[in-house]
Amino acid sequence: MPFYSPQWVPKLPFDPPDSVPVSEFMFNERYGRHPMGYSKSPFTCGLSGKEYSTLDVKDRVEYLARGLAKEFDWDPNKGTEWDKAVGVFSLNTIDTMTLAWATHRLGGLQSPANAAYSAAELAYQLKDSGANSLFTCAPLLETALDAAQKVSIPRNRIYILEIAGISTPADFKTVNQLIEEGKELPPIEKLNFEDGDGARRVAFLCYSSGTSGLPKGVMISHRNVIANVMQMTTFEKPYRDSLIEPLNQSDVTINILGLLPMSHIYGLVVTCHLAVYRGDCCVVLPKFDFKGLLEAIQRFKLEILYLVPPIIILLIKNKSLADQYDLSSVKHIFTGAAPLGKETAIELQKQYPSWAIRQGYGLTETCTVVSMSAPNDVLMGSSGSILPGMECRIVTIEGNEITGYDQPGELLVKSPTVVLGYLNNEKATKETFVEGYMRTGDEVVIRKAPSGNEHLFIVDRLKELIKVKGLQVAPAELEAHLLTHPAVNDCAVISIPDGAAGEVPKAFVVKSSSVGLEDSDKVIAREIAKHVEQHKARHKWLKGGVEFIDAIPKSPSGKILRRLLRDKDKETRRKQ
Ligand code: AMP
Repeated sequence: MPFYSPQWVPKLPFDPPDSVPVSEFMFNERYGRHPMGYSKSPFTCGLSGKEYSTLDVKDRVEYLARGLAKEFDWDPNKGTEWDKAVGVFSLNTIDTMTLAWATHRLGGLQSPANAAYSAAELAYQLKDSGANSLFTCAPLLETALDAAQKVSIPRNRIYILEIAGISTPADFKTVNQLIEEGKELPPIEKLNFEDGDGARRVAFLCYSSGTSGLPKGVMISHRNVIANVMQMTTFEKPYRDSLIEPLNQSDVTINILGLLPMSHIYGLVVTCHLAVYRGDCCVVLPKFDFKGLLEAIQRFKLEILYLVPPIIILLIKNKSLADQYDLSSVKHIFTGAAPLGKETAIELQKQYPSWAIRQGYGLTETCTVVSMSAPNDVLMGSSGSILPGMECRIVTIEGNEITGYDQPGELLVKSPTVVLGYLNNEKATKETFVEGYMRTGDEVVIRKAPSGNEHLFIVDRLKELIKVKGLQVAPAELEAHLLTHPAVNDCAVISIPDGAAGEVPKAFVVKSSSVGLEDSDKVIAREIAKHVEQHKARHKWLKGGVEFIDAIPKSPSGKILRRLLRDKDKETRRKQ
C-alpha cells in the first residue's frame, strides 16, 4: 500500500491543466492569482521598495514578450521551446519572473544557473542547454561574458536584469529597455497551446546531479510547475481560509521573503510561483546578508520566511543582533533543500515560541515539494505530510515494498510534478524515472504523529549528492576535476557534517607517482584544494579537507564504496 496525503487535506479541486503555459496559469481569469492578491503587488524590491502591481506584471510580461520577439525574431507559434532557450545567470531581481513568463509567452524555456557559478560551470550549462542568449546582472557580468565567450554567445545576445542601487553597464541592453521597446510594438499572436502541450513542453531547465554523476538538465514541464503550485495551495487551503474568511479579502496581504535563489527549484517554484499565484507579495532580495535580511523582515513586515537550515543556524547564533529588529510580523518559517536537525528546530522554537517552524521536502526532479508540515501539525525533525495528488512508495534495497511505520527504505514518488527526465541522458532518465515513479535516492520512514497523521522523516541520503547550504555538489563533478591535477592518481569525494553549512565535501586522494618524496602532504593537499577553488563555485570547495589514502575502496564493478570512506573519515576525526 503506498502512502498518500492525510484525510484532512482537501483533494485537488481539478486536475492540473495541461492546456496552458505557466505564464498564463499564473494570471488568467479561470485559474490565476487569487483574487485577494489582484490589487496587491506580487513583487516588491527588498532594497528600494519599488513595487509592481499584478496588472503591471501582466503588462510587463506582454511588452517584454513583444520586445524579445523582435530582438530574436521569435514567433510564438513557430519553432520549439529549444529554439527559444534563454540562459539566466543573475542574482534575484523583481524582473526575473517577468523574463521567465515572457519567454513562456513566446513558447520558449528558461534555464536558470546558480549565481555562484564560475565561468566554466556556467559555460557547461549554457552549452548543454543550448541557450542562445544570456540574461545576467551587473555584479555577475564579468563571469557571464567569460562564459558566453567560451560557448560563442555573442556580446549582443547578453542582456542585463537591473538591481536597485547598482549601475548598469552602458553597452548592454537591459530588460527594462526591451520592455520599453515592447510598449511601442504591435501585439503578438496568442501562443497556440494544444491540450497536452503543457505536459509535453519544457518551461524550465534546472540543473541537478540526481542520484549520481554530473549535473544534468532537468526538463520541467509547464504542468509540473502548475501541479506543484496547486498541490501546495490546496494543502494550505484550510489554514488560508481561516485567515481570510473573517476579514475583508482586500485587508489581507501576506508578505513573504524572496531571498532563496530563483535559480534553484525551491526559490523558483515556492517563493516565486506559489506565493504570486495565491496572492502574496514576494519581497525580493538579491543575495544573502544577515543584517539585510533582518532589516527586510522589519521594514516589510514579512510574515513567511522561506529559508534553508544554515540561515536558521545564523538566526539562532545571532539572537542578540536579531533582537535589535522588530521581527514580530513573522508567523511561519519554512525550511527545506537540506535536513534541519531536530535539535536546531527545537532551539529555534525556544527562541521564537510564536513562530510555526515548518519543514518541506522536495527535489528538482519532483518539481519541488513532496511533503510539508501543516501549521497546526508541526513535529520537530519531520518533513511533514505528503501533498495531495502524490503517491509515495517506500522500498528496501532489495526492492521490497514497505507498508508499515518506522521502517526505512528509499522513497519513490508518483505525481504530476515528476519531471520529464534529464536532457540528452537516456541512461540516467531510465534509472531515475521508473514506471512513473521518481527514485529519490533518499532514505525515509513514515511515522504516525500524536496528531494521528502520518509524517515523512528523511533519515539518510542513499545517493552521492552533497548538499552545502542547501546547494548541490556532485561528487562525480569534483572527482573528474581533481583527476586533472597532476598530483592526483585516483580520488573520491564524500560529504562530511559541518555545523554552519550542514555538509561540506571532503576528498580522499591517492597520490600520483609524479609527487616527489620531498613534497609534504600539507603542501600537496593545499595545492589540490586550490585547484578546486580556482575553477569551482565556493560551495564546492573542499572545506572538509583532503586526506591521502593508498587506494580508493571500490566494489568489483568499480563503484566507489563511499560508506567505507565515511567510516574512515570518522576514524580520522576521532583521532584528531
Ligand atoms: P535539490 O534537487 O537541489 O532540491 O536537492 C534535493 C535533495 O535535497 C533531496 O533529494 C534531499 O536529499 C535533500 N533535501 C531536500 N529537502 C530536504 C529536507 N527537508 N530534509 C532532508 N533533505 C532534504
